[in-house]
Amino acid sequence: MPWLGLGVYKASEGEEVERAVRTAIAAGYRSIDTATLYENETGVGKAVRESGVPREEIFVTTKVWNTDQGYESTLRAFEVSRKKLGFDYIDLYLVHWPVKGKYKETWKALEKLYQEGFVRAIGVSNFHVHHLEDLIADCQVKPMVNQVEYHPLLTQQELRQYCRSQEIQLEAWRPLMKGSLDHPILKELGEKYQKTPAQIVLRWDLQNEVVTIPKSVNEHRIKENANIFDFELSAEDMEKISGMNQNKRFGADPDNFDF
Ligand code: NDP
Repeated sequence: MPWLGLGVYKASEGEEVERAVRTAIAAGYRSIDTATLYENETGVGKAVRESGVPREEIFVTTKVWNTDQGYESTLRAFEVSRKKLGFDYIDLYLVHWPVKGKYKETWKALEKLYQEGFVRAIGVSNFHVHHLEDLIADCQVKPMVNQVEYHPLLTQQELRQYCRSQEIQLEAWRPLMKGSLDHPILKELGEKYQKTPAQIVLRWDLQNEVVTIPKSVNEHRIKENANIFDFELSAEDMEKISGMNQNKRFGADPDNFDF
């Protein structure tokens, strides 16, 4: 799984998402993160298929939405996603949120899709430690990835530790805090390393071994967000960024969501 991918939440279906994916692939991205919810799988698939890069070199993630959860309905939702994307297989299929009373049945469908080779990897999203423990106690195939909100204001230490101990790859959504990067520590480090605050945060993800998927539909920022492999933050500066934690969420808490 590539360490860096393009997020496409809120990128509109059609020209906007196609252009973003085309630009990202040309800039070297090899991973795209979409979902049924984002309603742009058709454009993502088209841009990937027309990119000229072999399908097996691009890692595509999509997710089953909450209203589709349950065994049979997940299998149906997967088929809709796969057709929209226009692929024989999907690289990573995720349970988007831990819908109470449903996610275990949903997981059984993901296990079947994995065992039959329609998906190369299966995982979850927005799972707390207790959700993971509950699922792992009952499953045949353990989740391979947990995609959660993760950034300097929400460092999720306990969850990170747990995922590491279970060999579940942590993946950061909203890594750029939706662009609210105006923070003195990020600015100071940006000047020190001659990088932008966004690049500092994304590099911090990489050095923490957290997969990251910043979203942009802007060519300049798509390129900027990928330019993070030519410098290294010192251990002390990594600590400074981690010290920004406030347990602050921009999105919903997985223990308390109503969608
Ligand atoms: P991000 O933290 O990636 O922020 C995206 C925002 O930041 C956009 O407004 C973008 O604007 C702006 N931006 C991008 N690059 C820069 C930059 N270098 N400097 C300043 N601003 C910048 O938020 P997202 O919520 O989009 O999260 C990323 C991805 O994670 C999503 O796209 C989606 O794929 C996934 N996700 C998953 C969730 C889940 O429940 N599993 C929930 C939410 C997101 P512009 O486009 O104009 O550049």
